Amino acid sequence: MNLYDLLAGGFPADRSKPAFLLSDGSAVSYGELEAGVAQVAGHLVARGVEPDDRVALQAEKSIAGVMIYLAVLKAGAVFLPLNAAYTPAEVAYFVKDAEPRLFVTDPEEFVAEAGGAEPLATTVPRSDDHLAALVYTSGTTGRSKGAMLSHGNVAANALALHEIWGFSAEDVLLHALPIFHVHGLFVALHCAFLSGAPMIWLPKFDDARVLDGLARSTVMMGVPTFYARLLANPEFTRERAGHMRLFISGSAPLLESTFAEFEARTGQRILERYGMSEAVIITSNPLDGERIPGSVGYPLPGVELRIGGGVQTGVIEIRGPSVFGGYWRMPEKTAEEFTADGFFITGDVGRQDPDGRVWISGRAKDLIISGGFNVYPKEIELVLDELAGVTESAVVGVPHPDFGEGVVAVVIGAGEETALIAACRQQLAPYKAPKRIVFVDELPRNAMGKVQKNLLRERFGSLFMA
Ligand code: AMP
Repeated sequence: MNLYDLLAGGFPADRSKPAFLLSDGSAVSYGELEAGVAQVAGHLVARGVEPDDRVALQAEKSIAGVMIYLAVLKAGAVFLPLNAAYTPAEVAYFVKDAEPRLFVTDPEEFVAEAGGAEPLATTVPRSDDHLAALVYTSGTTGRSKGAMLSHGNVAANALALHEIWGFSAEDVLLHALPIFHVHGLFVALHCAFLSGAPMIWLPKFDDARVLDGLARSTVMMGVPTFYARLLANPEFTRERAGHMRLFISGSAPLLESTFAEFEARTGQRILERYGMSEAVIITSNPLDGERIPGSVGYPLPGVELRIGGGVQTGVIEIRGPSVFGGYWRMPEKTAEEFTADGFFITGDVGRQDPDGRVWISGRAKDLIISGGFNVYPKEIELVLDELAGVTESAVVGVPHPDFGEGVVAVVIGAGEETALIAACRQQLAPYKAPKRIVFVDELPRNAMGKVQKNLLRERFGSLFMA
């Protein structure tokens, strides 16, 4: 089934109900959304877009952008979302690689133009294997690769999340995420559409607007930075959060201190889940049951998860209906990243309890090898984050004349380098303890809140070489 028809099957019978609630008090109904999608799909066809053609969208978040996304699905084409912050040089790479038939930069204008088009009456039939979207990995390391997600991949994930997170027509989703990434585009939108629920639609995360929206919402999805920013605002109180049934976090690790502070402030335990562009959501803490800080919970129904290499802590491998088919026009890269028995090698390092619960300890590429010993940065970061004066830390390995790589901790906070190193040595084997600690005001993060360790490695690359 075409993913669009699956989603539209969740739209409320009464199409006058709102899909989007805007800050100015206006709303866009499900009926308006559906009519708009048919019209834009008709316009796409009139512009020469054929099934399997890629349609790129690079623009700030808008409802017109959502209509274009859904219309691309309806027309059987492949949606290619691009971060509005990409530079012309970056965009040139995506265009050359993906060869889109159409590139939309002004969604409002495109949707307005579609007003004159003949609506596309019937959705183009698609099988599970047809491509729905080409999502370029946000790339905190190396060149971006286009993850090919099919209608079947995305549909399976949407249905599973809608079920396990208990979504219903009674919900109101606070949507403050960007829609160029699977988190805001698939995870958030699809849960709302399958429930026929309205969304409080914010162009971006803005704490005043979010605080306002919380009083009328039941679920919020966010990256860890959202939760840290809410906690930094004294107006974020237990009462403000009182109408909410669920706060979900993902896309980057949630600090245990954020989880704890959030619970102390609101009485609510953030539900952390783990996902990636290549498989949408992979694991989730339970809706009913223990949400444990530092753990990303259990594999979604239908997802097989194992630790590669038969070791206790190692690279997470996954197989299941939502796992992508491969990287666009990169057969060798794809072959390298799948095992012979069809598991995708995620590159995330973690472990799994006997009952299935998963814990992530970092990225394989972040692994530091110092003096021949393996050092997992997450382990050091957890120790540092507990020390007095440390707000947050990021640990990287940089070239070292004796050890190959030396462990460097980049820390937000106040303190004295030798004292912090000594404190680390009390808890960690000497080879794991940072050899240097540098203090910064801010850690470099990408749009999804992930610390860009490659930038830290560049910046502190010559620390031991001078
Ligand atoms: P992206 O493809 O941009 O969504 O990035 C996916 C990566 O984000 C994963 O491979 C993980 O490294 C990281 N990630 C996502 N969710 C979590 C989480 N809850 N905890 C730790 N890392 C996460």
